[in-house]
Amino acid sequence: MFAQFDASPLQQLHVELLKEKGVELWLKRDDLLHPEVQGNKWRKLKYNLINAKDKGMEQLLTFGGPFSNHVYATAAAANLYGFKSIGIIRGYESATLSPTLAFAKSKGMQLVFLDKTQYREKESDVFFKEWENHFGPFVVIPEGGTNLSALPGVAEVVKEIDIDFDVLCTACGTGGTIAGLLAQLNNQKQVLGFSSLKGDGDLAQTVDQLVLDYTGSRFNNYVIRNEFHFGGYAKITSELMQFIQSFKQKTGVLLDLVYTGKMMYGIFDLIRKDYFQRGTSIVALHTGGLQGWSGYPDMRKLVLD
Ligand SMILES: *Cc1c(COP(=O)(O)O)cnc(C)c1O
Repeated sequence: MFAQFDASPLQQLHVELLKEKGVELWLKRDDLLHPEVQGNKWRKLKYNLINAKDKGMEQLLTFGGPFSNHVYATAAAANLYGFKSIGIIRGYESATLSPTLAFAKSKGMQLVFLDKTQYREKESDVFFKEWENHFGPFVVIPEGGTNLSALPGVAEVVKEIDIDFDVLCTACGTGGTIAGLLAQLNNQKQVLGFSSLKGDGDLAQTVDQLVLDYTGSRFNNYVIRNEFHFGGYAKITSELMQFIQSFKQKTGVLLDLVYTGKMMYGIFDLIRKDYFQRGTSIVALHTGGLQGWSGYPDMRKLVLD
C-alpha cells in the first residue's frame, strides 16, 4: 500500500568557500523524493497516513495558507494513497485560486475558506461539528503537519544518511522536522536548526516536548539559529534572491524562498565566520518546498533565467 520511495540522494557540494575553509557540505536531497509529495512534508505525513489506514479512516482534513507546502503535499499524498482530503484554507476564496490551491483541487482536495478571525478558531468544536456533518468522519492533521506521528517518518531521513558526519542542518517552521531528526540521533552529533520565523519564542520548547513525548528523553545536542529569517516568515530580500541565484549557478540545486534558501544562506554565513572547525562534515537537509515558486513566477524568471 505504502510503496517506499527510494532513499533520497546525498550529494556533496563543491564550492570554493568549502575548500578554503576545509569544511565538507553534503545535501540530503529530499526535494527529489517524489515529484509531488516532496521534502519533509512527505516525511511528516507518512505515518499519519499509515495510522489513518490502520484505523480504517478514509478522509484527511488539514489546514494551511494559500501557498502552503503542507496543503500541497497532503492533497498529493491523499490522492496517491486513496484518501479523500479536505483543506481548511486561511483567506477568502478568489476567482483565481493560487497555483498551490489549484493543484490541491486538481488532486481532489475539497477546499473550505475561513477568514483570518475564523481561521484562528479553526480547531474549535463548532467548526469540527460543522465539517463532520458536512463531510463525514476524518482524521485531522495539524497545520504544517507537525504532531507526534510526524516524527518516525522524519527519523527515516537520518537512517538513510550513509556517511559519517558531524553536523545535521535543517530549516525550521513548526519544529516537527528537527524534532524527528533529534529523536533518531539519540543525542549523537550536532543539529543546527534555522528558523524561518521571526520571534519564534517557544520553538525550542515545542521541539523538546515532541522529542520527550516520542523518546522519553531530553536531548540538548541542538541549537536553533534565529538570525536568518530575513525579516520574517515568507519575507524576501534581494540579498536572499541573489544568494539563491548564485547557489543555483554554482551547484545546480534550486532552493526555495521560505525555508531552504534561508537555511543555506545561514550555513554559508556561519562557514564564512569560521563557526565550524576545519574538517567538519555537514549534512544539510533539502526539505523541498519548490512548489512555492509557483507563487512567485516573475521572481523565478528574474532569478533563474
Ligand atoms: C514546512 C517546511 C519546513 C519546516 O518544517 P517544520 O517541521 O515545520 O519545522 C522546512 N522546509 C520546508 C521546505 C518546508 O516546507
